[in-house]
Amino acid sequence: MQLPQLDQLMAAIHRVADLLSPVNSELTPVELVAGRVLAEPLCADRDSPPLNVSAMDGYAIRSSDLLLKTFPVQAIAAAGVKKTCLTPHTAVRIFTGGPVPDEADIVVKREDTVEHEGSVTISLTPNDIVLGQNIRKQGENCRAGQALIPSGTLLTASRMSSVATFGPAMVSTYRQVKVGILNTGDELVPPGQPAQPWQIRDSNGPVLESFLRQHSWIEVVERRSVGDELSEIVDALHSQLQLADAVMLTGGVSMGDRDHVPEAIQACGGRALFHRLPIRPGKPILGAIGPNGQLICGLPGNPVSVAVTARRFALTLLRKLSGQNVDTDPASRMVTIVNPDSKMLDLIWYRLIKMLPDGNAELCDSSGSGDLVSLSTSDGFVEIPAGQSGAGPWLLRSW
Ligand code: AMP
Ligand code: MG
Repeated sequence: MQLPQLDQLMAAIHRVADLLSPVNSELTPVELVAGRVLAEPLCADRDSPPLNVSAMDGYAIRSSDLLLKTFPVQAIAAAGVKKTCLTPHTAVRIFTGGPVPDEADIVVKREDTVEHEGSVTISLTPNDIVLGQNIRKQGENCRAGQALIPSGTLLTASRMSSVATFGPAMVSTYRQVKVGILNTGDELVPPGQPAQPWQIRDSNGPVLESFLRQHSWIEVVERRSVGDELSEIVDALHSQLQLADAVMLTGGVSMGDRDHVPEAIQACGGRALFHRLPIRPGKPILGAIGPNGQLICGLPGNPVSVAVTARRFALTLLRKLSGQNVDTDPASRMVTIVNPDSKMLDLIWYRLIKMLPDGNAELCDSSGSGDLVSLSTSDGFVEIPAGQSGAGPWLLRSW
């Protein structure tokens, strides 16, 4: 059963997602498509394997010859070499991946033979064999024309095996989603710079940039920091909306007198579809659509809020722009907490966790949404529904 707050949260995500269209597709050289999103289904251009090949190093023979015991070795069939013939009463020495001659119906592995100069003795009897043994049959993995990977799929390392095997030289993928990052706050100085006691070094910018750069389907086109002046935010947002498919703002999104992000979004022609959600941290989050269908996320300024809302909301919505399914989150699963407490909220609570080697999770000590030190020790967070507490299992989202 979905709980009301979770329903509200999903509804907010879908309100924005429904207005976002995937970016255009383009033909990308196969060497560059790892980590990109497939824009057309991938079909096999040939059988796999393309012909019968050996699964072992050994000897290809006719099973009906087996009683001969010793066979002259007539040819060698190595991987990458054209298929040979097997003349009656002889054996072909074969290597893993080598084409099996049409006349052979078994491959005897090398361990079951005694090799001599120019001949081989097979130490198996007809009772020891199964027809087709150690032969990978043509088309046993898939047939030419078979649909293998649907469009909208992220090309992870495992999927690259089919793309490289069956894909054309140029693969149709969605182009990278261009994202701008705009950090707001008069108190910010760039990392590495001296800071007065009333200033802080911008950590949200680097967190967001590195988080987004983990995904090859995203291109960070610009990261800028601006003060808490409406006109400054409007100018920067306006210029990023020209460059990017999505803009991630941080800070200035709540109710303070210096919080100008909602107004700046409106001034740039953006339309807010949700503002504030029943979550902690990250309650002031804002989701909007730009004048040309861009995604605009106003993320709250506190460091833990930024990380959590970027992971939970921004990434989900960016997936829609990238051509992927909004409702699947590959880096999420259920985990049990080993050190639960009885605290609960009437909001959805994102609690930072560390993963343990046994697959369970441990709650991080955290003093709240400003605790960037606990953020640095965490591996992700669990999503605890309102009014609940305890060990779970809860849904984990890893960074
Ligand atoms: P705001 O949402 O602008 O009110 O900011 C909330 C808190 O987050 C304040 O304590 C800010 O100083 C802090 N904060 C805002 N932006 C950043 C940033 N880029 N890096 C680190 N902390 C920030
Ligand atoms: Mg601020």
